[in-house]
Amino acid sequence: MDLNTIEAVARPSRREELDGLAPGDAFLAGGTWLFSEPQPGLRRLVDLSGLGWPPLVATPEGLSIAATCTVAELDAFEAPAEWTAAPLIGQCCRAFLASFKIWNMASVGGNICMSLPAGPMISLTAALDGVCVIWTPGGGERRVSVVDFVRGPLDNALERGEVLRAIELPRAALARRFAFRRASLSRLGRSGVLLIGTREAEGGFVLTVTASTRRPVQLAFAEPPSPSGLEAALEAAIPPELYHDDIHGRPDWRRHMTREFAREIRTELTEGGR
Ligand SMILES: Cc1cc2nc3c(=O)[nH]c(=O)nc-3n(C[C@H](O)[C@H](O)[C@H](O)COP(=O)(O)OP(=O)(O)OC[C@H]3O[C@@H](n4cnc5c(N)ncnc54)[C@H](O)[C@@H]3O)c2cc1C
Repeated sequence: MDLNTIEAVARPSRREELDGLAPGDAFLAGGTWLFSEPQPGLRRLVDLSGLGWPPLVATPEGLSIAATCTVAELDAFEAPAEWTAAPLIGQCCRAFLASFKIWNMASVGGNICMSLPAGPMISLTAALDGVCVIWTPGGGERRVSVVDFVRGPLDNALERGEVLRAIELPRAALARRFAFRRASLSRLGRSGVLLIGTREAEGGFVLTVTASTRRPVQLAFAEPPSPSGLEAALEAAIPPELYHDDIHGRPDWRRHMTREFAREIRTELTEGGR
């Protein structure tokens, strides 16, 4: 939709031109959310697309995803064969049940900054130990894990004027085994529950709960827990009020499916799916 309160659009091409975000300003990435509903508080958009950040950079240390990388660009990425967890990329992109128009415009950074429970880029990057690289006003930089960056629906760790520059996925996380489970109330509905488990060759087991909770919840174990140990850890980490409640699922259903999927993932990663 047209945003009829917008008086100016800035198109910075260098980092220095990003400084000076005033009240009524917002960064613009793909615009799929910004242009999907009225934004009466906004007067100026600062378009990030002219900064020319390379969408994906694979190095021996891992994968750096520019905040402006689109979901379509990420889905097309061809990962090195030794990155055994790379198929998660496609699975999480497909959890984003939007049209090709949205896929071609929506950015990974925009999805994480929205911080919605059903944000599939949050599920992906949180499960793979993603770290947000944040540019601070004045030329500084800080890093926050994706799990800590997302605080709740439409709430994240960015301070005024800060921009999410990239998300870094470490090679070690990309080289783990994984198991993925997702549920939605309808065939083409938003995720109501999305769990990802990962397992290191030497035993470490990590379970990341997203979509069913208001923010990502991650449980890490040095060795895979017993079924009752996993159940107890989930109960301790997710109090009832942390389960999300909206049109995409009631909290009791989300809690039930979270426990069910957690059990399945533990079995798949510890007993080879038996
Ligand atoms: C049909 C449809 C289906 C959708 N389905 C889903 C879904 O299943 N799950 C879901 O999570 N969302 C969904 N959305 C919402 C939205 O499209 C996505 O979250 C999308 O990924 C947002 O990315 P964007 O690049 O378009 O962000 P934009 O709309 O450009 O920006 C979103 C917000 O993030 C801020 N922002 C963007 N990039 C940065 C940055 N680098 N640094 C700081 N701030 C930034 C903007 O200022 C704005 O507040 C859907 C939207 C539509 C229209």
